[in-house]
Parts: sequence; structure tokens; C-alpha cells
Amino acid sequence: MSVVDRQEWDVVVVGAGGAGLRAAIEARERGARTAVICKSLFGKAHTVMAEGGIAAAMANANENDNWQVHFRDTMRGGKFLNQWRMAELHAREAPDRVWELETWGALFDRTKDGRISQRNFGGHEYPRLAHVGDRTGLELIRTLQQRIVALQQEDFKETGDFESRLKVFQECTVTRVLKNGDRVSGVFAYDRESGRFFVLQAPAVVLATGGIGKSFKVTSNSWEYTGDGHALALLAGASLLNMEFVQFHPTGMVWPPSVKGILVTESVRGDGGVLRNSEGKRFMFDHVPDVFKEKYAESEEEADRWYEDPDHNRRPPELLPRDEVARAINAEVKAGRGSPHGGVFLDVSTRMPAEVIRRRLPSMYHQFKELADVDITAESMEVGPTCHYVMGGVGVDSDTAAARGVPGLFAAGEVAGGMHGSNRLGGNSLSDLLVFGRRAGWHAAEYAQGQTDRTPVDDAAVGAAAAEALRPFSAPAEDVAGPPENPYALHRELQQTMNDLVGIIRRETEIEQALERLAELRVRARRVTVEGHRQFNPGWHLALDLRNMLLVSECVARAALERAESRGGHTREDRPTMDRRWRNVNLLCALTRPVGNPAEPDPTDVLAAPGPAHGPIRLTRETTPSIRPDLLALFEKEELVKYLAEEELYE
Ligand code: FAD
Repeated sequence: MSVVDRQEWDVVVVGAGGAGLRAAIEARERGARTAVICKSLFGKAHTVMAEGGIAAAMANANENDNWQVHFRDTMRGGKFLNQWRMAELHAREAPDRVWELETWGALFDRTKDGRISQRNFGGHEYPRLAHVGDRTGLELIRTLQQRIVALQQEDFKETGDFESRLKVFQECTVTRVLKNGDRVSGVFAYDRESGRFFVLQAPAVVLATGGIGKSFKVTSNSWEYTGDGHALALLAGASLLNMEFVQFHPTGMVWPPSVKGILVTESVRGDGGVLRNSEGKRFMFDHVPDVFKEKYAESEEEADRWYEDPDHNRRPPELLPRDEVARAINAEVKAGRGSPHGGVFLDVSTRMPAEVIRRRLPSMYHQFKELADVDITAESMEVGPTCHYVMGGVGVDSDTAAARGVPGLFAAGEVAGGMHGSNRLGGNSLSDLLVFGRRAGWHAAEYAQGQTDRTPVDDAAVGAAAAEALRPFSAPAEDVAGPPENPYALHRELQQTMNDLVGIIRRETEIEQALERLAELRVRARRVTVEGHRQFNPGWHLALDLRNMLLVSECVARAALERAESRGGHTREDRPTMDRRWRNVNLLCALTRPVGNPAEPDPTDVLAAPGPAHGPIRLTRETTPSIRPDLLALFEKEELVKYLAEEELYE
């Protein structure tokens, strides 16, 4: 299609959050001409919202910390389902990535003796989160952007063009990864403002598109998180790993309704905040599961002593991993001991002087004052679980971030699966973005440089992608009987379905019901039509995002139905315990047929499934590789017995 502009690059990075920017910097530094493309304004990625900090075993606050302890905490947090090699690389490399940020201009909060300050967070044995107040993500993105500008200035000196080797396409959305045969050949995208289509040709594409939260009604995530990268990977023939694991952060705002779901950072608890029910009880002591009993305080006195003397006391149970705290809050509310608006109370006002609260938690202070008219230095906050993060994602090679089975496709950050197992520890995402963003950029550059015979993108694939993107402007096809549908109404129904039926607590019958509703929504989504034209048209944008959310939601529901146990971010009320037989089982979702291949009868209609009851997703099981013995040796045998499957223990 000659109307579609084309540009040629070595590496295209989709997403300009922490993972995307770190990947782009690495690819450019390794000599690859690199394009970054993002849906929102440059600098406004989701990473900006990260508050608490970056987890890295720098041992600044406790000299006993090291990468092995961080590895152990991460594996425990993920209930041993983590891709262990990723957890190892992450724990080993995170401190270097934080230091590197400082050399590029980041300024972290300091300890009294001038070292980078590190704060406590749930599931981390020692204070480990390098932070900038509660605005760490902003500093991270600001620093990476600054590094990109510095590289562009270097390029200008040499070539006279700032964008000759590193260019950002902002407010542009990718709708397809293009392939020629088996290999990636670029991306198809549209400019959100003009609606103009364009193609970036490249042998290597890095997906760094973040999460899926906008498929759920109550979420801490912003509008961009529609699971695009997850869906792009599926459509390109990759598999998604363990999509049942969705993290519900225990503390989102619950009131007023307009701000429901907005995050209340874990730093509030890390810095001493406590959770109470309507009876004023610190209820977390009643909710410590057996696997964590030895490590957590049994009384308020011991818990409070820990803040001053962590070496001789056990941690407060408010600092259990997020899945445990979210479930406990849910149970308290269900038992009738919730706050007036259906949450519980989070209190710092009786725990710290007002000026310390304002200094250490400035965003939280302003957030509650401005959005809820609550002064957190004098009153408790009302909080409850909110959909926050997806542990499932593109199945990748641990060392190279290459998507399994699709040469030229890479994934890093929240869109990639494996690193966090069944539950992510707070702070481990920002470090994940830096460690694996760098690795993805490095290997994408190397891969691109090795591709000497670059085949151009296939015209038919470009035509099919353009037709797919334009379809919401036309009347529904004749085989799709029924009235036209509104994308906003459909989105609301999808969010309600996922929230009610595949939310924090799941049941077999409800997940089955969700799959039926998703099947109906999928049929109706084929009738979505929008008015107006292609110039900045949010209804059209949402209509295109719906395809992604429906695909991803089906993956979450199918995997949630299959995994007949409770583990991390997947709680089945009808299978309430963790089952060791599932410890080494990965669930992989892929498309049932190769959609996007122009040779197929209707390549543009991914939502057209064989029948209403069967979605386009196929689910398979795989056995995880054995954990390396020297890494297993970092744990006590008694602890491993709680997690590992019988045959693994035998080995
Ligand atoms: P993002 O930062 O979301 O970037 C995604 C990028 O992809 C964006 O640029 C977006 O525009 C682009 N994109 C998406 N789809 C498309 C498309 N189709 N075409 C083109 N571009 C596209 N983690 C921690 O470790 N510590 C914390 O303290 C912390 N606090 C958090 C606080 C909040 C409120 C939230 C919501 C999350 C927090 N997290 C934290 C989690 C962490 O911020 C995210 O997991 C992380 O930022 C994800 O980074 P990313 O680079 O993968 O994606």
C-alpha cells in the first residue's frame, strides 16, 4: 500500500516506559539505529506513577543484604514459580542498574552518611528500595529521557541530525507486529492525532508496553494499560505465560467513587503504617499463612520493635507479600469488619509526626487531601484491593529477553512473563525494567546486526493491518448479525465481568460464566462501529484497544480455570490451598490459528472464533526447568518441602 509511509530502522522499541527507554538506550549504544514508539506523550509512561522505589540489594541500610537474599525473597514472593534464571539475573544486576542511573543524573534520597537510602517493603528481608520520596518512577523516567537526549546530542554532532540514530514517535499506537515468513519485519502503527498509518520496518522489535489493568473495573492503572503488547505478541505467534497471575494491590483508595482504585503506595506500610479493621484491631496478625509464620512477628510489641531493631525482632505482618495482605483485607471486609466505604483503615497519623509524613510521603499527603479531603497526618485512610500488575506475560528466554518461537521479537518489563512467578514483590518491577530492558536492547541490537538479508515488509500484511484498523468505521459485515455496538459500553461490560468473575477471589463456576460473557462480548465487538473520522478520535482508539483487552482477558480466564489451586495472585475459593503438584507447571496461551497471516481467509478478524463458546485461545501445560542446585542450596530444606513437588525434592 503506497499510501502508508515506511521508515527503516534496526530495532523498534514499542513503549517508552522504564523498560522501553532502557532497551532503546542499550540498543543505540550498541550501534543499532533505534526507533521508540509510544501511545502517550514521551515521558508520560506508566512508570512515572511508580512511587515506592527500586529494589536492589545494595546493602546500604543493612550490610547483611546481598543478591542471594534478594533472589530468595523474590522466589518466596513468587511462590517458587518464577523463571529462576530471571530472578537470579535480576537480583545480581539490579544494584549496577541503580548506580548507572546515578551516573546518568538521577538523585536518590540519601542516608545520613551520604549513601543511597533504602526503605522497607513487603516480602523484602532487608530495607532494599532505593527511592526518591514517593516519586521514584518520575526520577527514573526523567533520567532515562535525559540519557536519550544526551545520545541524540552526540548523534547531532556527528551526523547533523538529532534523530539519525535514535528517534521517538510519541502519541502513536502499534496495532500489529509485522512478519515476513517466520521472522519479524517491523510494526504497523497509526498516529493518534492525525489518524495517519505508517510502518516502521526493522528485523527486531522489542515489546515494552506494560500491563493489562484496564480490563478490570477497579485498577491503579492508567488508560494506556490495555494489554496491547500481550495481544501483539499473541497475534505474532508467541505464547503468553501464566496469565492467571494478576496482582491485586492491597491498598487502593476506595472513596470517593471517582478515584476508586488509585494506588496508596506500600511505602506507607514500609514506613510504619498499620492496617486496622472497624473494631480498631490490627488484624494482619490473624492472617499470617503457615509458610511465612517463622518470619513474621506474633505481637504488636514485637512488630513495633522491628522498626528500630530489625536484627532481633521479626517483621510486622503488614509487610507480608501483597497477595497475602490483599486476601486478608478482603476477608475482613467480607466478615463485616470493613470501613464505611468497603475497605479497611490504613493509619500513619498515630505512628509518625506530621512533618515526617509530609516529608516521606508527599504524594500520598497531597493525593488524599486533594482527592478525598482526608488529612493523613491526622486521620486514617480507607483502603481496599485494586488491580495493579500482571505477572503473566510474553514467554521469553531469561538471558536474552527473546520471545520464544518468534525470531526478532523481544519483550521486557511488565509485558514479559516469568520473572515474578505467581506474585511480584513491591519494588521488583522498576529493577526488572532496568535489568531486562537493558538485556532486551542488547540482544535485539545483536540480532538485528546479524540479519544481513533484510526482507521488506509484506504489502499484503500491511494492507490487512490497515483494513483491520479501519473496520470500526464501516457497518458490520453481513455475517455479523445484530445492531452496531458502542466501544465504551462494551469496555464497561468487559471491566465489570473481569472484576466480578475473575477478580481477587475466583470460583470455577464464575470463571466459566466469565468465559461465556467474554464469548458474547467477542461477537458483539465485531459489530463495534465509531462515528467521525480518523483525526484524534478516542472512540476509534478504544475500539482498536478492545481487541487486545478481549484476547488478554480470555487468556486470564482460561488459565485461571485451568490452575486448580491457589497461589500468589491467583486465589480459587474452591481450591483454597497451594498444591505442590502445580509448583512446576506453566500454563501457556497461544492463538488457535495463525491470525495475521494474509493467506488466511479473514486475517483481519481475530475475534471471529470457531463458535461462540470457543475463543481463539489455546491453552497448554509445560513443565518448568529444574532450579539450579546452587540456587536451591540458598534455602533451608524445611522451607523447600513446603513448596517443591515430590519428584523435585527427590531429585
Ligand atoms: P510502562 O511504563 O507502562 O510503559 C508502557 C509504554 O508502552 C508506554 O509508553 C505506552 O504508551 C506504551 N504502549 C502501550 N501500548 C502501546 C501500543 N500499542 N503502541 C505504542 N505504545 C504503546 N513498581 C515498582 O517496582 N516500584 C514502585 O514503587 C511501583 N509503584 C507503582 C505505582 C503505581 C501507581 C503503579 C500503577 C505501578 C507501580 N509499580 C511500581 C509498577 C511499575 O510502575 C510498572 O510495572 C512499570 O512501570 C511498568 O513499566 P513498563 O516499562 O513495563 O511499562
